[in-house]
Amino acid sequence: MGQGKDRSIEIIVDKCTGCTLCVRSCPFGAIRMENKKAVIDYTKCTLCGACFPVCKFNAIKFEKGEEAKAPLGDYKGVWVFGEQKKGVVQSVAFELLGEGRKLADQLGTELACVLIGEGMQQKAEELFWRGADKVYLVEDPRLKNYQDEPYTNIIVELIKEFKPEVVLYGATSIGRSLASRIAVKVYTGLTADCTKLDIDKEKHLLLQTRPAFGGNIMATILCTNYRPQMATVRHKVMKELTLDKSRKGQVIKKAYPDSVYASRTKLVDIVEEISETVNLAEANIIVSGGRGLGKAEGFKMIEELAKVLGGAVGASRSAVDSEWIPYSHQVGQTGKTVCPKVYFACGISGQIQHLAGMSSSDVIVAINKDPNAPIFSVATYGIVGDVYEVVPALTQKFREILKK
Ligand SMILES: Cc1cc2nc3c(=O)[nH]c(=O)nc-3n(C[C@H](O)[C@H](O)[C@H](O)COP(=O)(O)OP(=O)(O)OC[C@H]3O[C@@H](n4cnc5c(N)ncnc54)[C@H](O)[C@@H]3O)c2cc1C
Repeated sequence: MGQGKDRSIEIIVDKCTGCTLCVRSCPFGAIRMENKKAVIDYTKCTLCGACFPVCKFNAIKFEKGEEAKAPLGDYKGVWVFGEQKKGVVQSVAFELLGEGRKLADQLGTELACVLIGEGMQQKAEELFWRGADKVYLVEDPRLKNYQDEPYTNIIVELIKEFKPEVVLYGATSIGRSLASRIAVKVYTGLTADCTKLDIDKEKHLLLQTRPAFGGNIMATILCTNYRPQMATVRHKVMKELTLDKSRKGQVIKKAYPDSVYASRTKLVDIVEEISETVNLAEANIIVSGGRGLGKAEGFKMIEELAKVLGGAVGASRSAVDSEWIPYSHQVGQTGKTVCPKVYFACGISGQIQHLAGMSSSDVIVAINKDPNAPIFSVATYGIVGDVYEVVPALTQKFREILKK
């Protein structure tokens, strides 16, 4: 018998008909046939339980563990992790509340935000204005800054007690670290880096869409057998709601024993990343340069235009790989997702991996000497020309206009 914490699996040999359905269902190649009976290779089995529902002959005995035993229908509500840094709720949480509100309305359920930190209670009001019906608040001086273990333990406790059907986290370094730990502890799935969420109303399932195969296809992932359905969602992909100061909600305060707040790691210091000084994700105007600049010096011209417009500098991966500009400026699938009011793409061809990070910008201005460059298909305004002629001319014109 294969056993993990609280769960186990075994084949009931007498009932097995040798149909091989379970062999085909196992994502880990952990089931084989021997003498027309299924045999589990426990060195490969992860106790995911994928084989259990496909067996038509009740020949698989699967103990799911206490919390996973709750019927799926017992899980209700959409939750958002209210990521905070230095006591400031991050804008990614507001975006998730905007999206979470839509999902909760489609499911006919409540939207809650989980807020963990020190002295955070006064922030709850804004979360209601931004769409939450409830705030689960856990406050303690030890929780002032994010730490993997206590934050994981707390959310696991909350999930066990209140059983949400959907939990969303920002696909930030904190959200990614936290969500994966929680998924393991509550025995559920996690879809990372989603760019679209929706509800299959008939089946009451969260449709979690994310780029796959290098961004060439969009895959929609379902978590059919486990709860909660959990996803991390890219920053700047979902829209915040307009503040509604008439909205009110309920704060549910929770506190836990010391063991829940314990951490084997000690936070020594928080050092701001250089990339954070670029603040690309928050910028209203971004001027990005690509391989079409031809050399590192080309970024001086890009910086100049960004400076005149009060914007930030972005880059394609090709420009970053050529070491013309640090990675912290990269926009795209493996860089930052941005959603500025205006995005200038200068000498950028518009490959799908770049578009994945900027195509939701309000206005896109593309400058490229190739009239057939794919960037023009997403551009609001396209300028066919040499970046070294067009960009300085734009900078000059904007400077004159903005002076007035
Ligand atoms: C798994 C994976 C992840 C990736 N992640 C990212 C990512 O996060 N971000 C990203 O950007 N890319 C990413 N890429 C790379 C992506 O596929 C492209 O290679 C990259 O975006 C191309 O960058 P570019 O447009 O600057 O260069 P190119 O595709 O070489 O385009 C240069 C453009 O400049 C134009 N040009 C040349 N000279 C001039 C001139 N003088 N004036 C005007 N136009 C000119 C050309 O016509 C051309 O259209 C990823 C790829 C993979 C496989």
